[in-house]
Amino acid sequence: MRYCTRCVMPDTKPDLAFDAEGVCSACRNFSSRENVGWDHRRTQLVDLLARHRNPTGYDCIVPVSGGKDSTYQVLRMLELGANPLCVTATTDKPTAIGLRNIENIKSLGVDYIEVTVNPVVRRRINRLALERVGDISWPEHVTIFTIPVRLAVALGIRLIVWGENPQDEYGGDYRGHTLDRAWLERFGGLLGLSVADLGMDPRQIVQYTYPSDDELTAAGVTGIFLGYFLPWDGYGNALYSQAHGFETYSRPVEGSLVNYENLDNGQTGIHDYFKWLKYGFGRATDLACSHIRRGRLRRDEAIGLVRKHDGLFPWTYVGVPLADVLEDMDMGLDEFVAICDRWTNRDLFVTDADGALVKDRHGNLTKVAYP
Ligand SMILES: [Zn+2]
Repeated sequence: MRYCTRCVMPDTKPDLAFDAEGVCSACRNFSSRENVGWDHRRTQLVDLLARHRNPTGYDCIVPVSGGKDSTYQVLRMLELGANPLCVTATTDKPTAIGLRNIENIKSLGVDYIEVTVNPVVRRRINRLALERVGDISWPEHVTIFTIPVRLAVALGIRLIVWGENPQDEYGGDYRGHTLDRAWLERFGGLLGLSVADLGMDPRQIVQYTYPSDDELTAAGVTGIFLGYFLPWDGYGNALYSQAHGFETYSRPVEGSLVNYENLDNGQTGIHDYFKWLKYGFGRATDLACSHIRRGRLRRDEAIGLVRKHDGLFPWTYVGVPLADVLEDMDMGLDEFVAICDRWTNRDLFVTDADGALVKDRHGNLTKVAYP
């Protein structure tokens, strides 16, 4: 494993490039923000909202999870005079704090629709996705993108205001401002699995289907990243949202460095842990990199923090016990650990003379190479 010389991201991260100086593309993308004309971008946003203004209805859909970014998106839309319809695709294991933060978004003064898919089918897909692509959150990553777009088409709302552009934030080569089907297929994290591959009754997976190109064209729906138009900073968004009632966790989230993000789903610990098993970095690394780039953490400090927090076996997440999440999927701990081991990249972790993964008494692995 090779690490960026400026942040602590390893070269195992998909879609991340390193230049001759050993600096990753996410750090380079971030540096280039200095040259962005943010005043011009803001004017572009105001013009775009003016073009989509609906004097008798909603101007846009804001997909919301209740998190710090979606709270921030709603606040900015309201400040710009827009009338958003907020739409949530219910998470797979809603947490108490996540539900309170949804209530907080409603209390900002917006209409709100929540779509909950069939939980019996969903748990089958969670299990299947964990086994087949090593990502329990695969169905959630499908429906957070399909549900708001389906509603936009159905309700004739032409604009969808998404949050950050993950490619711009975390590295990758997409620098535009629209989220469409092509973006979703390339960058949506669907890992080569398609809804058709699930082999399920199409009537049970209606909400997992993206509208057709004909439907989208007829409805004239455009999706934009707010992070293209306004300088994006997760921590700044959290502070701004907190000042408007957004609630943070009482301590750093398990496997993370901070208490202000990914609070809404008890399954996220498993999602993050599989990223660690496949690529050798976890959520703590993502956050450390964000803070290093913004001058809030020194690289040498970050190395120690990441080593302490990254990739811990996900016994709990935002206080939700692993056993509860596994119970939903009708999966025992031994079976879960076997799936973990199957998805672990053995080049990245310490093994014994027989090639077996070395774990401490809590089930934690040790990486072969740290920054
Ligand atoms: Zn970097």
